[in-house]
Amino acid sequence: MPQARHSRGTTGATRSITADQLEGVLLGTAVGDALGLPAENLTPKRIRKFWSGEWRMRFMGAWGMVSDDTEHTLLVAQSVLAQPVNAEAFQRALAWKLRWWFAALPAGVGFATARACIKLWLGFPARRAAVRSAGSGPAMRCAILGACFSTDALRRRDFVSASSTLTHRSWQAEVAAHAVSECVALVVHTQGQPEPWEVMEALRTLSREEEWRDLVSKMETALASRLTVAEFVSELGLERGVTGYSLHVVPVAIYGWLRHPRDFRGALIAALECGGDTDTVGAVVGALAGAVAGGGGVPSEWVNSIHEWPRSVSFIRVLAIRLSQQGNSDKALGSVRSFWPAVVLRNLLFLGVVLLHGFRRLLPPY
Ligand SMILES: [Mg+2]
Repeated sequence: MPQARHSRGTTGATRSITADQLEGVLLGTAVGDALGLPAENLTPKRIRKFWSGEWRMRFMGAWGMVSDDTEHTLLVAQSVLAQPVNAEAFQRALAWKLRWWFAALPAGVGFATARACIKLWLGFPARRAAVRSAGSGPAMRCAILGACFSTDALRRRDFVSASSTLTHRSWQAEVAAHAVSECVALVVHTQGQPEPWEVMEALRTLSREEEWRDLVSKMETALASRLTVAEFVSELGLERGVTGYSLHVVPVAIYGWLRHPRDFRGALIAALECGGDTDTVGAVVGALAGAVAGGGGVPSEWVNSIHEWPRSVSFIRVLAIRLSQQGNSDKALGSVRSFWPAVVLRNLLFLGVVLLHGFRRLLPPY
C-alpha cells in the first residue's frame, strides 16, 4: 500500500497513517469486542440488571478475551502484509487464513462465515465461497483496511470488496463494510474526528439503495436533534437489542461514534448499553473511536485487562508497527508469526468460559 504514489483519497489529501493510528484501530477493535462479549445477545434491561452500568472486562473474572471480530480483523491485517497490492491475491491469502482459523475450532463463528469456511475447505475457490447473507461479518473486520489504504481510495474499495465477498453475498453486507472503512479513511484524512456532515456525505455515495439512503437520512436527522444512541436505536425499532444484521450494527456503531466525538469511553458505552450484538457493535465503535484516539488513547485499564495468547496485546502492537512499515512499500513484508497450535488450546478454554456464561444466563436477574 504505497501511500505517496496513490493519492485518490476521499478528500484528495495525502496523509500517511501512523503506527499509533493503526494500533488505535486494532486495540480499539479488541477492547470493544472484549467489553461487549459478556453482554452479547442480552437486552438493554438485562444488561442494566446484571451490571448496573459499570463497564469493565468480565469475561473470565476481571479478564477480557476477544472473539471473531478481533480475530478476523487480525487475519485481514495479516493478509495485507502477505499481499499488499493485488486484491484478488489478498482475497486468496485471507481465504487460507480463514480456513486455518476455522480449523482451530473457534467458539464464536457467524453462520454465514462458518458456511463459507466449510465451502473453502471443500475446495471452492475464494471467489466462489461466499454465501447469501447480510450479516455483519464483513463490516466487523474491515476498519483496518480503511486505515491501511486511507490514501488510496481505489485500492481500499477493492480490498474491502474482496474481503466482504469472500464470505458474504449481499449488497447490505458489502455497503456496511465500505461504510466502516470509509469512516476510518476519513479520520486519517482529517487527522482527527471528522464532522458529521463529512461522514454523511461519504456514506451517502456508497449506495443508491433506498434502505441505505433512508438510514443515512435517519442518522442525519437524529444527529441534528441530538438523540441519544439509545433513542436512535429505538427509532430503528431495536429497543430489545441491536441485531446482527449489517445495516443494524453499522449505523448504530457509526451513530455512537459521531454522537460522542473524541470520547472513546462514552461512544463505546453508549453503544454497548443498547444490547444485542454487543461484541460486534463494540468492535466497530472501538475501531472508529480508536482511529481517532490512537493506540495511546484507548483506555489503558481496558487494554491491560485483555489476556490473550498467542494473539496478545503485544502481538497486536507489533502488527500495527509492521502495517505502518508496509505503508511505504509495495513489497510484502509478510505476516507476523504466531504459534497456530496454541490457538486450538486457547479456543478450548474460550469455549469452556462461553458455556459458563450461557449457564449463568439461565439464572436471575431476568
Ligand atoms: Mg464476536
